[in-house]
Amino acid sequence: MTKYDYDLITIGAGSGGVRASRLAGKYGAKVAVIEESRYGGTCVIRGCVPKKLLVIGSHFAQHFEDAVGFGWSVQSATHDWGAMIAAKDKELDRLEAIYRRMLRDSGATLIDGRGKLADAHTVEVNGKAMTAEKILVAVGGWPTIPDFPGKEHVISSNEALDLPKRPQRVVIVGGGYIAVEFAGIFNALGSEVTLIIRSAHVLRGFDEDVRATLAEELEKNGIKFRRDCQIRSIEKTDAGYSVMFDMGEEIIADCVMYATGRAPNTSGIGLKEAGVKLNAKGAVQVDEWNRSSVENIFAVGDVTDRVNLTPVAINEGRVFAETFFNKNPMTLDYTNIASAVFSQPTVATVGLTETEARKKHKVRLFISRFRPMKHTLSGRDERTMMKLVVDRETDKVLGCHMVGDDAPEIMQGLAIALKCGATKAQFDATVGIHPTAAEEFVTMRDPVPEKAEPEA
Ligand code: NDP
Repeated sequence: MTKYDYDLITIGAGSGGVRASRLAGKYGAKVAVIEESRYGGTCVIRGCVPKKLLVIGSHFAQHFEDAVGFGWSVQSATHDWGAMIAAKDKELDRLEAIYRRMLRDSGATLIDGRGKLADAHTVEVNGKAMTAEKILVAVGGWPTIPDFPGKEHVISSNEALDLPKRPQRVVIVGGGYIAVEFAGIFNALGSEVTLIIRSAHVLRGFDEDVRATLAEELEKNGIKFRRDCQIRSIEKTDAGYSVMFDMGEEIIADCVMYATGRAPNTSGIGLKEAGVKLNAKGAVQVDEWNRSSVENIFAVGDVTDRVNLTPVAINEGRVFAETFFNKNPMTLDYTNIASAVFSQPTVATVGLTETEARKKHKVRLFISRFRPMKHTLSGRDERTMMKLVVDRETDKVLGCHMVGDDAPEIMQGLAIALKCGATKAQFDATVGIHPTAAEEFVTMRDPVPEKAEPEA
């Protein structure tokens, strides 16, 4: 008989925790999962899924406008925000029920409550202590909002997904994934959106051509930018929220949303007390086996602040379960992970940006900018941008980047090519599918004229 109540206790039933727990259960482990909120975590309840449903819902506005160029007459289409939110909530309820059922089917015990480590093998929940040989911390992250006068008036993406009514004048602070995605949702549905960024461009860390192209397209779509700008204070007035900028200007808004990053959910759950080392941002420090500084405590997903994406958390959960519950040691390869931003238009990318590539390689660049076929008739002034970053010496494709409709759908396939180490010659030898935007990735023949290579 084992000396512990469980083989594995997982704290947090988000993407990573659920995958690890289900697999461990399938491999015969006795598993308990503790969740204080809803099953599914950020992705299903407060992130990817509801956000994408709202992106899809809002994007119809463009479809109605574009249809006119193809002979349609669309009579005064109207949108009911409340109906969209209710439909989205119903879908989230369905998904949460599926998550609970899948966990139960794997044999796991589900415990609703807040789990807190009492020591390296003991977790307390709802006043009861339970023990496990291994503990998996998969508690995710939470939006962070800087302190300033009037902070109590702002919302994060959590609340933006559940607003009872669509605000007409929206200020969004931040230029990351969440900010540009929500700017697109509100703008498409008819709100006046102002995006406040503290630097010159959105999407820090993305390829510079992507950043510049997306900003241009967002502005063409009517999103107003305030660059190099910060909010000093916010006051509630009869006219709305009075937003004061550091330069002394004021604008009035019905809603101010902060999307200024997320932080790991590690406070108050006994991690430090159990000896688990956290980094300066509060993330659990783990090795390639997802093991923390305490031998039997592991962590996966956003709480480790490695690559904060749902499929990464799922794969971290998978390799953890394979390694420790199926005698099949595995680690995750973090290179060439594709990602997408569901802005309008979308962004997708895999591999190195031009700037990253230039640090280690001599590069050849291929860029294509064109008007998507649909807009030759719709008349919409939208351009698609595609870019390949190629190693000049080995001919390997180091990075693929796109701003334009369907970019995420296209990039998934290119991610496989990069994982296989595809060369530009192999891209060129691939026959395109016509007429598509995607074929441009295999028909770019002329490199961008070379810039002088920076001194080593
Ligand atoms: P990001 O880290 O992507 O972006 C944060 C933004 O806020 C940056 O533009 C940053 O500016 C700005 N910022 C930070 N602090 C301040 C401040 N004090 N005042 C003003 N601006 C500030 O965070 P998000 O919240 O957008 O997203 C969090 C994470 O969630 C992402 O890293 C991503 O991993 C994940 N995510 C992924 C999605 C997807 O895959 N589609 C969708 C949504 C989220 P600067 O650039 O100057 O630092």
